[in-house]
Amino acid sequence: MIQNIDLRGLQLSPAELLAAVPRAATDVSAASEIAAELIADVRARGEVALLDQAERLDRVRPEAVRVPAEHVDQAVAALDPAVRRAIEETIRRVRRASAAQVPPAVTTTLADGATILQRWQPIGRVGLYVPGGKAVYPSSVVMNVVPAQVAGVGSIALASPPQNAFDGRVHPTILAVAGLLGIAEIYAMGGAGAVAALAYGVPAIGLDPVQLVTGPGNVYVAAAKRLIRGQAGIDAEAGPTDILVIADAAADPSLIAADLVSQAEHDELAAAVLVTDSADLAVAVEEKLGELAESTAHSGRVTAALGGTQSAIVLVDDLGVAAAFSNAFGPEHLEIQTSEPETTLVLIENAGAIFLGPNSPVSLGDYAAGSNHVLPTGGQARFSAGLGASTFLRSQQIVSYSREALREVADHIAALSTAEALPAHGDAVAARFA
Ligand code: NAD
Repeated sequence: MIQNIDLRGLQLSPAELLAAVPRAATDVSAASEIAAELIADVRARGEVALLDQAERLDRVRPEAVRVPAEHVDQAVAALDPAVRRAIEETIRRVRRASAAQVPPAVTTTLADGATILQRWQPIGRVGLYVPGGKAVYPSSVVMNVVPAQVAGVGSIALASPPQNAFDGRVHPTILAVAGLLGIAEIYAMGGAGAVAALAYGVPAIGLDPVQLVTGPGNVYVAAAKRLIRGQAGIDAEAGPTDILVIADAAADPSLIAADLVSQAEHDELAAAVLVTDSADLAVAVEEKLGELAESTAHSGRVTAALGGTQSAIVLVDDLGVAAAFSNAFGPEHLEIQTSEPETTLVLIENAGAIFLGPNSPVSLGDYAAGSNHVLPTGGQARFSAGLGASTFLRSQQIVSYSREALREVADHIAALSTAEALPAHGDAVAARFA
């Protein structure tokens, strides 16, 4: 069912390693035209456009886009106690781990009386998108809201699609989690229209524009985020999820198969990749995958994902090559299940989040580890990071020089301003000493 790729004995460059397992194609640009129309519609017609789009795309017309406070209170009151306890524990853990991401302010003294203070300022107002098309993700509310709150963001608007099964309301578990987190500004809107409403605002319903839109979503959400970039900031464009496991002969094939299946159940396009230097382990994992894929709840989706060209069991000569493969792939989730995971970790450069040893599965990170589950997909881990408090912070440098400290560099500024033919720059400094 899953393809086997044998790279033993080959000396491959990072590009060749990457080409061995191509990612599933998601064509964001193809969705761009549709997203652009939906964005223009919301900018022109505001709430009516959002209601019309919901009727067409979510198959339900909400009573209003803005969610009344009593709907949130009702959802909190009706929340299953076991889910409430799980969410509250997750909130506690994510809050503590996010707090560790806030960098301290640092003052650097460059000379007597010459300092640069580097401080981190939260973004003033952000819009958080919580998906709710094919599945709903209450855990994503925690993963978006908590780091924003920890960063000190003062104003948070949350958008999630209206649900046909709940008379056009936002899914009750999403409302309940938002309520537990103290989020009061919630909108029943989804897809590209929601991203537009957050970025440009809808004055008639009191929705002011946000400065940053974050959160995962489908290809239309990704296309819309690309289009509104500049009007507001964005975090990243999330694509289909992926997991890459580096394992050696010491690993348990049942656990590896379980973890590969746990991510494959997200999406037919999800990538599940095992890279190992043990031919015996490769055979054992393939056998376990066959059994699990048949018995698991989302068997069709899992079988499609494992059978896709984006998923594979890859045999390599040693764990060094396994790490090189993983670095080229830039997995969203990397599990290291080797006899000495810390030794392999030293070789890892690119990964959204890394899970060490047999007792740190990706599912733990999806829900309750305390780490964030909104992570760079599609190889974006090679240049970007997952959502965290730092996503909602900007660094600012504050320059403070005394007259004497300025005098020390005045000649340098004059020389550079002459070299750049911008003499007024030099004159501005010279004016202090006239
Ligand atoms: P979604 O909320 O992203 O999209 C639903 C919206 O898409 C609808 O409200 C509608 O407005 C719009 N839409 C649907 N069909 C359309 C069409 N034909 N034309 C234009 N717009 C249309 O929910 P989803 O679809 O379930 O997708 C959620 C995605 O987010 C999944 O791919 C999932 O894997 C991903 N996800 C990622 C993470 C992460 O951390 N990376 C977490 C949770 C979910």
